[in-house]
Amino acid sequence: MRLNKVVNNKLCTGCGLCTDNAMEIDKEGYIRPGSNLIDDELSRKSCPGINIAHYNNEKYDPTWGPIKDVFTGYSNNSEVLKLGSSGGGITSLLLELISNGLVDHVIQVGVSENNPIVNETKISTTFEDIIACTGSRYSPSSPLDAIRSVLNNDKVYGIVGKPCDIAAVRAMIAEDKSLEAKFPYLISFFCAGVPSLNGTQEILSKLKVKPEDLISFRYRGDGWPGLTKAITKNGLEKTMTYNESWGSILNRHLQSRCKICADGIGEAADIVCADAWHENDKDGYPSFEEANGRSLFVTRTKKGEELLDMAVMSGNMTVSKYQIANLQNIQPYQEKRKKLSFFRHLALRIMGRPVTTFKGYNLFHLGVRNLSIMALRDFIGTIKRVWQGRL
Ligand SMILES: Cc1cc2nc3c(=O)[nH]c(=O)nc-3n(C[C@H](O)[C@H](O)[C@H](O)COP(=O)(O)OP(=O)(O)OC[C@H]3O[C@@H](n4cnc5c(N)ncnc54)[C@H](O)[C@@H]3O)c2cc1C
Repeated sequence: MRLNKVVNNKLCTGCGLCTDNAMEIDKEGYIRPGSNLIDDELSRKSCPGINIAHYNNEKYDPTWGPIKDVFTGYSNNSEVLKLGSSGGGITSLLLELISNGLVDHVIQVGVSENNPIVNETKISTTFEDIIACTGSRYSPSSPLDAIRSVLNNDKVYGIVGKPCDIAAVRAMIAEDKSLEAKFPYLISFFCAGVPSLNGTQEILSKLKVKPEDLISFRYRGDGWPGLTKAITKNGLEKTMTYNESWGSILNRHLQSRCKICADGIGEAADIVCADAWHENDKDGYPSFEEANGRSLFVTRTKKGEELLDMAVMSGNMTVSKYQIANLQNIQPYQEKRKKLSFFRHLALRIMGRPVTTFKGYNLFHLGVRNLSIMALRDFIGTIKRVWQGRL
């Protein structure tokens, strides 16, 4: 598939690999390559709008992907735990990589110095750089727009990205094995999808804050899940709960490609972090009540497992084993979307739309085993959304 077809068919994830530090925000508030698109072999062979594969031979759990083990845990550093999105897990792993000299730099996403609601790709080297990127940014990000500028230097990089970003790097490595030494650690997080920047604007408008008056904006953190917080130049602080900002605003602004994604759980990563929500005995759904931060860790490769071990052995993290069978209780959304993926893809194909290929995800078998009224409703709903131009 040509790359402009990926963009035109709303399959672009906005990863940034097909530009050289030159992504643009489009009129719908998503990050896109625009006129800077580089349609070369590197872009086409790794584009996560075209293909996704995990390239992992570990035992494959039909719902949760290739898994070595699952843990919950948190950072033992009070600053990391406080600022961290859940338990500061990703930040702790990155600090471990840097302090042990396993990588020279980390490619990650942080906030733009010029605009507190815009994300920027950062190349972090120090404790301070990494801490400055702690926390989830629920808006478009393109960490791979930095790849082309570092590809030919002699430095080694760890990368943090959404599952689609990480799948693109894994595809690059599968194509050119020498890149495994350049990008030896790929870290991801569970991802429910990328909301448009318009979602953030809607939060600001609800908080009655003008974007130009902002000096700081966080989606969460400073607690778990913590509040969405806008701070203005004259010191005014406006907040909103995570339930309200994610649950009633941001999740209505997801980009199309995310609505048909079959990998919200980082199957191509070495290790993946997520919220280890506590189970709620009342209705079987996870509880989003404020609590001490707790990350979920899914180790997918030996390297991922060793990195987590290292962070525990050095005293930087505390972890305990978690049962794979219980994941569905604390991450029901991810379970559901994977099971429904086959039906959504089928609906798109019937409507004549191209769909991203998910190789090694066994979506057909998972779908057939989970054929239900809900799946049929979702299938019909997808056809309707395509028909109405909403997908
Ligand atoms: C768009 C989005 C959707 C998510 N959906 C889910 C979900 O459905 N279920 C779930 O359990 N968790 C989800 N998360 C992950 C969750 O919010 C936490 O990131 C996760 O629990 C890890 O927390 P932590 O304390 O280990 O991370 P921290 O130690 O706080 O580190 C966060 C890391 O993520 C990077 N980062 C932040 N925002 C972005 C971004 N937009 N793009 C790329 N990198 C980024 C930062 O650079 C930092 O390195 C989502 C995160 C994002 C950004």
